[in-house]
Amino acid sequence: MATVNDPLQKESTDEQAGQEKPHQRYVLEETGFNEVPKKYRKFYRRFGGEGDSLAPNEVQCPVCMVIVRSSRNLRQGDRVYCMPCFSRLVVVMVNDRLEAHPVY
Ligand SMILES: [Zn+2]
Repeated sequence: MATVNDPLQKESTDEQAGQEKPHQRYVLEETGFNEVPKKYRKFYRRFGGEGDSLAPNEVQCPVCMVIVRSSRNLRQGDRVYCMPCFSRLVVVMVNDRLEAHPVY
C-alpha cells in the first residue's frame, strides 16, 4: 500500500491501483503550520480543539496530535506520514470515525 502523503514517494495513481471508487480530490491550502519545510506545510495543521471536525481527508496523529491531511479522502488501510514527529501511520475505521494508528 502506498503512503498517500509521503513526500518522499511519488504519488500513486488511482487508475493503476484498480480502485472501485475514484478518490475524491482535495486541494490543500497553506494552513500556517510551520514545523515542517514550507513545501510540506499544507499536509499538516494544528488541531483546533474541541469542536474541530476532521474532513474526510484528515486524520489526527495520535503521537503529536497534529492533523495530517491528504490530497484525497482517506480510507481504512491508507498509510500517512506525520513529518512533524516522524510517525508512520495507518488509517483505521473506529466507531465510524477514521483514526490513525502508528505503524511499527
Ligand atoms: Zn505526529
